[in-house]
Amino acid sequence: MKTIKGLILREADRGEASKSICVLTAELGVIYVYVRGGKKSSKTSSSTQAFTYSALCLEEKKNAKGQVSYFLNSSEPVKLFYNIRLDAKRLALASYFSELIIYTGTESAGIDEVMRLALNTFYFLNEGKKDMELLRSIFEFRLLCEIGLRPDLIGCKKCFCYESDKMHFNFMSNNLECDDCCYNPDSIYDHVMDRTMLYIVRFIALTEYERLFAFTISPRYQQLLTEFTERFVRYHLKSNFPTLEFYKML
Ligand SMILES: [Zn+2]
Repeated sequence: MKTIKGLILREADRGEASKSICVLTAELGVIYVYVRGGKKSSKTSSSTQAFTYSALCLEEKKNAKGQVSYFLNSSEPVKLFYNIRLDAKRLALASYFSELIIYTGTESAGIDEVMRLALNTFYFLNEGKKDMELLRSIFEFRLLCEIGLRPDLIGCKKCFCYESDKMHFNFMSNNLECDDCCYNPDSIYDHVMDRTMLYIVRFIALTEYERLFAFTISPRYQQLLTEFTERFVRYHLKSNFPTLEFYKML
């Protein structure tokens, strides 16, 4: 038996009465847990609902190939992000965040930073005071940074200048070039940033979690940021996310 804390990302029915839950944990990454009688039992219902952070007591079973399955023994809610469920748009955005985590998640250990990002983002989404598009941009870009795709944002990769009026970010090489050094500004992977955009992008990629959510930007820069982070996700994950399309429709 093992007790572990996890953020419930998704629930799925398993037969008449049971369900399985997909859980983000700092120790084991993304795991699936079978909840016997979970569709009906009121004992575990709040702590095994999507968008709840819970302490889960798990039973581990290994099959002949050594693959581990997890079964829920008992559970307690630690933090309920209850308000997310009260608003269709917030719920849609939370589902998109979950989908991104599941898509990028591995079974390997050591994803403390992803856990931290997810809990912080869900906290602000639940509170409802931060702009949802900004939360989306922060989450999309920082998640990919945390899983090993953090771009080289120190400066122009050729002349090493820190900033200029026009910097070119290249999605393929994942680094910056200034306007003078940019080899192929017409490349389909090129993305032009002014000083402010570069500052925002650097901030999201590099700042500590205590300050990560403590800023606001103008609608114009939000539009530019959304465009950038959406392209970044599309380039690296090469997948369409139905939950994102749904969120955009609302
Ligand atoms: Zn340069």
